[in-house]
Amino acid sequence: MTKLRAATTAQVMAVVKADGYGHGAVPCARAALEGGATWLGVCTLAEALELRAAGIEAPVLAWLIGPGQPLHQAIEADVDLSAAGVDQLAEIVTAATVVGEPARVHLKIDTGLHRNGATAQTWPALLEAAAKAEADGLIEVIGVWSHFVYADAPGHETIDQQLVAFGEALDVAESFGITPQLRHIANSAATLTRTDAHFDLVRPGIAVYGLSPIAGETFGLRPAMTAHARVLLTKQVGPDEGVSYGHTYQTRSDTTLALVPLGYADGVPRAASNVGPIAVNGKRYTIAGRVCMDQVMLDCGDDGVHPGDEAILFGPGDRGEPTATDWADAIGTINYEIVTRFGSGRVPRTFA
Ligand code: PLP
Repeated sequence: MTKLRAATTAQVMAVVKADGYGHGAVPCARAALEGGATWLGVCTLAEALELRAAGIEAPVLAWLIGPGQPLHQAIEADVDLSAAGVDQLAEIVTAATVVGEPARVHLKIDTGLHRNGATAQTWPALLEAAAKAEADGLIEVIGVWSHFVYADAPGHETIDQQLVAFGEALDVAESFGITPQLRHIANSAATLTRTDAHFDLVRPGIAVYGLSPIAGETFGLRPAMTAHARVLLTKQVGPDEGVSYGHTYQTRSDTTLALVPLGYADGVPRAASNVGPIAVNGKRYTIAGRVCMDQVMLDCGDDGVHPGDEAILFGPGDRGEPTATDWADAIGTINYEIVTRFGSGRVPRTFA
């Protein structure tokens, strides 16, 4: 894998949630750590424990913790937890009391995204509770962190506004005696475009997998995932024949239809019916008719497509195939969604 380094001295937390954005959490975590990342970021406690069960010992932050979850497991497994409010912190403190070890906590401030994170109003109460719990030896505050709204739109006014709000939140934290080792806010887009947002650690996700977070820019990244299959069968049909459910596609002339055995159960979005591009022998075809659960059809004319030929849905683009970003553009979504759909399903994965 390409070296994972920030353009500053910031450490890199490779985000491997959602089964490593569909690429495989454990192999991607290992590759990222080999490449220079020193931290791993996940969403759920289960995702963090999967990494630990695989023997990965690097620091892991799990940031979406719900009420009633077995937080003692996180503390026992040395998994860092995010706390966004006093109630959440209280649950972490209770778990730490049961385990008899301090929990490692990152306090989250909402600087504008308005998902989780303490607001400017609730931040002091969270800090006060955290300072007390730290003094009682029940938590260790490792980080203070936040997340951008619009880092994928460089120059967007919210980026500077959020950086100001983050700075203010850090000042308030200091006034409560909290000076974290790690301040972090940058996702891939901010990592690539705003070194002033790097602080002590950056949290890239999509860029780790070689995909750009910003439309029209590649940053020299090379997509890691190739989704491909072998043409299963071909058949000859005449003109004006409907193809696949609902006959939403009609052939125009005598042609060869090729069946590619990947469908929406494998990750191909049904919204790609009649628009998704697939390359066979270096030529791109648009999916003919509806995407089925297990298969799609291509109208290959007289191009000489045969069973066994490789059909590439997306990849790095070296062999005439579309990229995941091309797929996203074709169906009006983002490359994140295209690759994560292929995670831990029935499509076998191989790693080069
Ligand atoms: N940090 C948090 C909190 C996230 O939720 C995500 C992903 O959504 C990331 C970092 C990584 O974002 P990206 O994949 O855009 O780099």
